[in-house]
Amino acid sequence: MNIEQIRGLFPVLHQEVHGKPLIYFDNAATTQKPQAVLDALAGYYSHDNSNIHRGAHALADRATRYYEETREAVRAFIGAKEAEEIIFTKGTTEGINLVAQTFGRKFIGKGDEIIISTLEHHSNIVPWQMLCEEKEAVLRIIPINEAGEIIFEEFEKLLSPKTKLVSIVHASNALGTINPVKEVIDAAHAVGAKVLLDGAQSTSHLEIDVQELDCDFLAFSAHKIYGPTGLGVLYGKREVLEAMPPFLGGGEMIKEVTFEKTTYNDIPFKFEAGTPNIADVIAFKASLDFVNALGKPAIKAHEDALLAHADELTREIKGFIPVGTAKDKVAVLSFNINGMHPFDVGQMLDAKGIAVRTGHHCTQPLMKRFGIEGTVRASFSVYNTKSEIEKLAMGIAQIARFKN
Ligand code: PLP
Repeated sequence: MNIEQIRGLFPVLHQEVHGKPLIYFDNAATTQKPQAVLDALAGYYSHDNSNIHRGAHALADRATRYYEETREAVRAFIGAKEAEEIIFTKGTTEGINLVAQTFGRKFIGKGDEIIISTLEHHSNIVPWQMLCEEKEAVLRIIPINEAGEIIFEEFEKLLSPKTKLVSIVHASNALGTINPVKEVIDAAHAVGAKVLLDGAQSTSHLEIDVQELDCDFLAFSAHKIYGPTGLGVLYGKREVLEAMPPFLGGGEMIKEVTFEKTTYNDIPFKFEAGTPNIADVIAFKASLDFVNALGKPAIKAHEDALLAHADELTREIKGFIPVGTAKDKVAVLSFNINGMHPFDVGQMLDAKGIAVRTGHHCTQPLMKRFGIEGTVRASFSVYNTKSEIEKLAMGIAQIARFKN
């Protein structure tokens, strides 16, 4: 891959911050957008702006076609059997809440159990706590080891006929750990439980085939795959989605409305009430085209090389404390510096033009497991370079010298 050429596609990267060239290492929070995505957004509003699915004019037809083309592109991207199994949401958070409020409310009752892991983002904890409180169901947590990996035998011990759902992160946003999701899915299915994968951090790095994995749900966000914010996808198996009641009520999700009784539309429209996020859905296709053109294996190989370089350069720094050392990881370097608050480290790196994330990363129970308040997180993407990694390591070494 020609990284300089790739960088040329991302206008936002070419700026100075505090008088230094921007080094963007906050990719797990959100990735930057290539020019093609920006052009698709402007193109839609400049030429095609129209409401979809019910217009009797050329612009509406065009907008509908482009919107549905993205649905098909998403289907292919994750290997789903049918485009009807792809539901557009606001993001991973909404996708998980949708499942909790529809599947959960209908199929999970008193004494039933839901399993999540210690690694989860708050968006894969809180919706289940809310459901468990309402239904008097029980939330069980898979423990992790010191490296930040789930302890599979402990997971197996939690499984029972009471387990109705296992909802687990594919790749951890805070540590980078990649979970053995195929094994998790097979074990959960063996006791009759459904499985939801939180793919927020995996879909842009790992090849995903939902049919091969056999997951029942996959939720992810467009903005972490070089796409627009405020848009996500919930994949669900046809038979599961069809058995679920609707989420939001309103236009588009109905077949017929009378004051006596309303009948609901078929999937996916049953779950897409109201005017959807048309512009961002249309532009999202350009993000998927970008990833497909490079190929996820090549993207992952580049990011892995960056992580290996970062590991090598930071390992010997006095006072550098890595957090999360799983064998199988996406390119996330989570760490602390002895004697320093992560926020202060983040501020000092920002002064050098280096953008990282600091804090609990919406994983407070995970931070508690390690007995820390938070970490500094540098997360790498396809447009990052080895020389940027070297500047990061140099910056960390300079900062660590203050207290070590
Ligand atoms: N799950 C994980 C693992 C995440 O990293 C994130 C975002 O940081 C989310 C869920 C929530 O995604 P969103 O805020 O796009 O809904």
